[in-house]
Formats: sequence, C-alpha cells, structure tokens
Amino acid sequence: MDAFEAFIALVFVIALQVGPNIAYLQYMKRAMRRPWNVKIDPNYRPRITVIVPTYNEAKVIEMKLQNLNSLAYPEDKLEVIVVDSASTDGTLDLCRQWLTRNNFKFKIILLSEPIRISKSHALNYALKYANGEIIVVTDADAILTPDILIKAIPYLADPEVEAISGRERIVNANACFIAKMESVYRDIYYMLRLGESKVHSTQIFQGEFAAYKRNLLELFVEDPGRSDDNGAVTEILRKGKRCLFIPEAIFYDAVPCNLIDYLRVKIRRAAHLQREFFVRLKLLAKGVLNIPKSILIANIYQHFVNPLIFFMLLVPLALYFLIELSKISLTLSTLLILAITMASISARRFIALYVISNIVLIIAFIRTLVPSKRQGWEAIRSSREYLNILRSLEKIKHPTSMRTTNTQRKSLIKLGGKPKVIVEAKQQ
Ligand code: GDP
Ligand code: MN
Repeated sequence: MDAFEAFIALVFVIALQVGPNIAYLQYMKRAMRRPWNVKIDPNYRPRITVIVPTYNEAKVIEMKLQNLNSLAYPEDKLEVIVVDSASTDGTLDLCRQWLTRNNFKFKIILLSEPIRISKSHALNYALKYANGEIIVVTDADAILTPDILIKAIPYLADPEVEAISGRERIVNANACFIAKMESVYRDIYYMLRLGESKVHSTQIFQGEFAAYKRNLLELFVEDPGRSDDNGAVTEILRKGKRCLFIPEAIFYDAVPCNLIDYLRVKIRRAAHLQREFFVRLKLLAKGVLNIPKSILIANIYQHFVNPLIFFMLLVPLALYFLIELSKISLTLSTLLILAITMASISARRFIALYVISNIVLIIAFIRTLVPSKRQGWEAIRSSREYLNILRSLEKIKHPTSMRTTNTQRKSLIKLGGKPKVIVEAKQQ
C-alpha cells in the first residue's frame, strides 16, 4: 500500500467513524427541539427523600448540607438521609457539628455503615429508612441549584416517567485545559441526552443528581461492575418506562485538572457504562427491552464500535500514512503534523477530547473484560478542592435564570415549617 492508497483508506475509516456520530448528533439536535410529550404538572409536590451517600467527604460535607438547606421545597415534604460508609476522615462528626451549629430546615437522618461495601449498598441501606414517594440521590460533591426540585419533579407527574436526571455545569470550567475540554464534552452530552429524552429516554444518568419514583423502584444494583444510577436506568427501561434528562435542573460539579485523576474518573464511569450497555444488549437480544432500539444501538456504537475503529483502524492507518508520506516528502508530513497541532483552540479541544475519549473507552473496555478489574467506587480528591470556590460564588446561591417565582415561593411558605428531627442509626 503506498501513501495515496493509505490516504484513501484513512479517509474511508474517518468517514466510517465520524459519519454515524454526526448523523446521530444531527438527529438528536432536531429531536431536542421537539416539545415534550410528557404530562408536566408544575404543582406536583410529592414527598421526597434526598439521599447523600458519603465516603470520606470531610472536605465538602458542610458545603453540601448548606446547599441542601437552600433547596426550595415544602419543608414537611422533604427529608434528607446522609448515609456514610465508615469514612475515616470524620465526615459524620462534621455533619453532626454542622447540624448543631446551624438550623437545618428539613428532617435529617444520619446513617452509618460499619464497613464500606459500595455506594449502591449504602443507598439500599438508606432506602430502608426513606419515607419519600420520590428518591433523590445526590453526590456529596455536587452542588444543586436551589430550585432544582421545583424544576425537575413536575416531570415525574407523568405516569410513564419513572426517573429524571439533571444538567451538569462545571464550576471550574475555565481553570485548565482539561476542564475546558470537559465542557465541550458536556455540551455534546447535553444535546444527546435531551434529544434522546424527547424521543423516549436518555440511557445515561449521572449520580450527582437523579430522582426516582419509589413505588416502582427496585433496589439499586450492587454488582461492583455496575453503577447505582445507570443500573437503575436499565431496570426502568426494562419496564418500558421513561428516564428523562431535564435541562432546567442544574447542578454544579468540579473537574479534576490533574490528568491522572481525570482519566481515573472517566475510565471508571466509562467502564460502568459499558457494562450497563452490555447488560442492556443482552436484554435486547432476549426481547425484553421495551424501548426504541435506535437510541440503544447508537449508544452501543459510540461506546464500543467507535473506540475499536479508532484503535484498530484509524491509529494504525494514520501512522502508516505518515510514514509513507515521510518517505516521499518529509517536509509535507511535518507540515501536516504542524497544521493539526496549530489548529484553532476549539479544534484542539475537540481533537483532544476525541482522542482522550477513545483512549478512556478502550482502557475501560479492556478492564471490563477482566472481572477482577471491575471497579466499585473511590473518592477523587483533587476535584473536591475546586468546590470550595463555590462558597464564594454568589451566583450559585441565586442563579439569575433559576430564581423561584413569587407564586412558587408563596406556596412553599404556606406548606413549610415542621420541627426538625435528627435521627441517627447504625447498621446492625
Ligand atoms: P464520581 O462523581 O463518579 O467521581 O464519584 P464520587 O467519587 O464523587 O462518588 C459519588 C458519591 O458516592 C460521593 O458522594 C461519594 O462520597 C459516595 N460514595 C462513594 N463510595 C461510597 C461508599 O462506599 N459508601 C457510601 N456511603 N458512599 C460512597
Ligand atoms: Mn463526583
């Protein structure tokens, strides 16, 4: 194969990889503009249990409690459960101290597990104490906008909608190249998840903020290779019910600026997701997954076929082409490499994201093949630091676009005002 043939093959492979993705993105861009075919009831105020799982969250737990205290929701209709799994950094002590010093407006239950098994295990334990009709799961390191519930819960009024998830904003979006790159990913993620939700359901949830209907909710899957959020989505899709991404339900999270930490988080999340798609594929083959197939097939293409084409065809061909080109003209191949690296900032971000995503997916894929490498959870430290920025960010407390309207506020005041109870329990 000479340089010209390698070039033709390369163009073909790039088209094979990029084509279906662009086609799907275009389809979703159109779908996301459709109206919701959902019965949204803005006055729907079910009882809610907010569960916060914690493992060594001393750095953020006080901020989290403060944040939960700012949630707009009738005080007698919301309870919080913090479930800790044997943290060694005094997370629960900090919680207790914060609660004695501050006036927490909702009922709160502190639970403590004697050993750490997994996030899902902790959530299932907390479910035993939960009285809500709706279960909200929110990570300790995620900051919720005060009216996230007012914005999100009305979608659960539809009997077909079983769960909803929100939109992530990055706190430190301009802090470093990695955070900027992640923002590009989030923008694409936003279009895909919203489009998919309009068609039927998003197949990807984020544990930072997710709300589920309790009556139909099975326990969170405890398989260490799977995650609480996407495991629950599979169970819901199996019933043919809907899971929606709600763009107005906004929460904030921080991105690690350290490449190793970033890759660790991304690989763990990708591995969980691939495992989940694998489970769904098996359900699809059995004919028991009652949802539009196109979304599942497209996601499987993105999470499995893409990285395989990238590493087995694109990378080898590109290298081969460069070597052959260098044989003909070293200047030409150098110029080509220079042109790619000097691409505009946004193109560079996009190219970096593209390459890193494929690397993440392939490593995650290899890891999922090895059962002993299947991961549970770990706490990533470096991104927690950025969350402290939030304390001084007034805009998070009162995001301009997110203010509760006066009528909403009035109805909240009417309904609110129950005595606070702090219950503590240890697992037998
Ligand atoms: P990431 O957002 O995917 O990087 O995951 P995190 O490391 O932020 O973890 C998500 C949430 O689960 C955080 O609130 C953690 O403290 C919590 N968590 C992780 N593992 C455990 C566990 O074994 N038990 C409990 N109770 N919480 C956990
Ligand atoms: Mn997190």
